[in-house]
Amino acid sequence: MEEYTVLKVLGEGSFGRVLLVFHKSSDQKYAMKEIRLPKSPSDVQDSRKEAILLAKMKHPNIVAYKESFEADGHLYIVMEYCDDGDLMQKIKYQRGKLFPEDTILHWFVQMCLGVKHIHDRRVLHRDIKSKNIFLTQNGKVKLGDFGSARLLTNPMAYACTYVGTPYYVPPEIWENLPYNNKSDIWSLGCILYELCTLKHPFQANSWKHLILKICKGSYNPLPSHYSYELHYLIKQMFKRNPKNRPSASTILARGCLAKLVKNCLPAEMTAEFKQILKEAKKHKDDLGRKKGNFLSD
Ligand code: ADP
Ligand code: MG
Repeated sequence: MEEYTVLKVLGEGSFGRVLLVFHKSSDQKYAMKEIRLPKSPSDVQDSRKEAILLAKMKHPNIVAYKESFEADGHLYIVMEYCDDGDLMQKIKYQRGKLFPEDTILHWFVQMCLGVKHIHDRRVLHRDIKSKNIFLTQNGKVKLGDFGSARLLTNPMAYACTYVGTPYYVPPEIWENLPYNNKSDIWSLGCILYELCTLKHPFQANSWKHLILKICKGSYNPLPSHYSYELHYLIKQMFKRNPKNRPSASTILARGCLAKLVKNCLPAEMTAEFKQILKEAKKHKDDLGRKKGNFLSD
């Protein structure tokens, strides 16, 4: 802790705070999440999961982990500082002025790359929302806040309680069904919708009505000037049956997004991505042959 000087508070939540700190020896700023450690040892183990999972992720679209340590009953997670706030703030600052489609796609493709990275490692985020998407001034978008994330170790792990924010929680969770990678895709769809309309797709003045709307999957259409592609993506991501929602890889394989990927990734990762596209295409062709219809996962 002595290596860091606290500059200001970036955010506050029920767990504790996120501080902007300055690391003297590297002459760099970092974000430091300070989490009050609970009394019971099993709950402490739970709090540590956030640091353990974040440490495993290494991707330009995931907040980079630096180190973590414990001191005075707190867990500190030091990570890359995203100097342009979060996506929820960005949406608020628009004051009703819609984003251009290319801005939306530029952000969305990066979110999909981050989500794909965690899903490939069998990690579910479980709290994907605009407030947990962080931005940098050079236009990068990073998935952050792994406080609810879990590693899928066995199929039973699907069944544990979901802790997301109600607006973004998919129908299967309200219906007490298991969640999986497609539950994260629903929440990602909610962000894409928010970027297009500056509103939540499912809103109501009571929990009961909110849940009913989500479970029916009924939402107002996007402004008509957005492309067919955006309308189509939203429709697919809001399929009630999780099996019918596309995976992050399937979304990224769509022509209009695939061509944006190379602007977002460093050269060595673009090669890896091309391989994925090939696999996705092969999978689609195989399925097409088997079922004679369009791929669903
Ligand atoms: P919580 O569990 O309370 O949601 P978060 O990890 O999402 O905790 O952090 C809370 C807020 O702090 C975020 O919404 C964001 O505004 C800010 N924040 C968190 N991490 C960073 C970061 N790496 N860079 C910049 N701001 C951050
Ligand atoms: Mg958060």
